[in-house]
Amino acid sequence: MCDKTTAEQTSTNPAARDRAAASESGATHVIAAPNTQPVTGSPLTEADARHLRQTFDIARRARTHGNMPFGALLTGPEGEVLIEMENGYFPDLDATAHAERLLATEASKRYREPFLATCTMYSSAEPCAMCAGAIYWTGIGRVVYGLSEHALKTLTGDHPDNPTMDLPSRTVFAAGQKPIAVEGPCLEEEARAVHQGAW
Ligand SMILES: [Zn+2]
Repeated sequence: MCDKTTAEQTSTNPAARDRAAASESGATHVIAAPNTQPVTGSPLTEADARHLRQTFDIARRARTHGNMPFGALLTGPEGEVLIEMENGYFPDLDATAHAERLLATEASKRYREPFLATCTMYSSAEPCAMCAGAIYWTGIGRVVYGLSEHALKTLTGDHPDNPTMDLPSRTVFAAGQKPIAVEGPCLEEEARAVHQGAW
C-alpha cells in the first residue's frame, strides 16, 4: 500500500495535473506512464512497483560495495529508466553522497527542468531533508519511495553512520514554491527487508 500526497491537486505540472484530474473524477489509481496497469488496491502502477523494487536491488548492490543500503533511480515520462544511483559514501567518504542527492545532481547536469518535471524519482527509502532539497532544486516532478524516514529511524536508531532525521519529505516540499507529487511509503515491508542486518 502507498500513501499519497494531496499537494499535487493544485499542480501546474501537466503530468501531476492529469493525476489530480483522475483523482477528482473518482479514479482510485494513478497512471504515471502509458501502457501500465495499476496494482490492485494501491495507487502504484505495475511500472511504479517494478521501478521501486529495482531501487531495492540497487540498495542491496550498494551494500555489497561497502556502502549503506540505499538506492534510487529516475524514469522519464514514458517510464524509461534514465539514471540509477547507489549510496556513494565510499570511496570518497562523502557524507552528502546519499543516492537521491547524487541522482538529483546527475539529473540536473544531464537534463533541464521542464523535462525533469515530467520525471519520477524512485527511492528505496524516503528522501531526507538534504535530498528533498536537492530534488526540489533540480525540479523533478514526482517522488515514489519505499521505507519512510520514521520507519528507517526505528531501524537505524542513533547509528553513527546514519543518524536518521525523521523529517517527512512532504514537509520539506511543502515549504517550496513548486509542486512535487509524492507517493510513499510504498511496499514498505519489502523496503524494510533491504536493511536486515545492516544496522
Ligand atoms: Zn538523503
